Amino acid sequence: MEVTFLGTGTSEGVPTILQPESVQLDVHNKKNWRTRTSIHVVMNDHHIQVDAGPEFRLQCIHNDIKKIDSFILTHSHSDHIIGMDDLRRFCRMRNGEAIPVYSQECDLNRVRDIFPYAIRDKAEGNYPAFKLHPMPDCLVLPGGKVYKTILPHGNFFVLGLVFEEEGSGKKLVYYIDCKSVPIPAMKMATGADIVVLDALRHREHFSHMSIDEALSVAREISGGQTWFVHMCCEVDHERDSASLPEGVGFAWDGMRLVL
Ligand SMILES: [Zn+2]
Ligand SMILES: [Zn+2]
Repeated sequence: MEVTFLGTGTSEGVPTILQPESVQLDVHNKKNWRTRTSIHVVMNDHHIQVDAGPEFRLQCIHNDIKKIDSFILTHSHSDHIIGMDDLRRFCRMRNGEAIPVYSQECDLNRVRDIFPYAIRDKAEGNYPAFKLHPMPDCLVLPGGKVYKTILPHGNFFVLGLVFEEEGSGKKLVYYIDCKSVPIPAMKMATGADIVVLDALRHREHFSHMSIDEALSVAREISGGQTWFVHMCCEVDHERDSASLPEGVGFAWDGMRLVL
């Protein structure tokens, strides 16, 4: 299994436009430059893209993403959906065949609203093509399985994902944009090699976990390694990494894990 963190930042990106002077962020440290949160997972050469934010095109170029076989949308907030038009290049690499897109029904409706021209079996012209599917409880793909769970995110619910590679049995948990991790999701995460969690900032927020909240979830899951994502500009990589326990870290854009 291979996991590439294409982006690790919150919805407005880091640094933000008109970065507040009161916020101490070392902009000379590249790990503090966070594009919108998204990962690319490879299981036995099956390439799964999770979410596509505004910098999706640049993320693909910087990380040398060569193909996408399946696309999973965790939820339809702009920082996760708005880059989907750039899937067009990957459609072309499949001779125009539509990319399967998996999500909750309400989020598939948002895809229909924003990209009506892309809802087709075969790409036409320079447009992308999406074949929409409700995300099943267990998505069986050629390289392994992806299990879904539902996580609370303010007034929304998002897909929590657990990837399990066929053969190696390697397990990745991806719980982002969530205020908490309910018991069923905790159970699904048991025995994970990698746990990726939402950790917005030190202060509490109504729809995201704070660093302390994410740390207590990490302790309970106690996976092989835990990586935090979706951090805002109040989190300085070097300064705040120093206070994290062993086995837990802030992921950064371009980080790649091979299991
Ligand atoms: Zn988000
Ligand atoms: Zn969100």
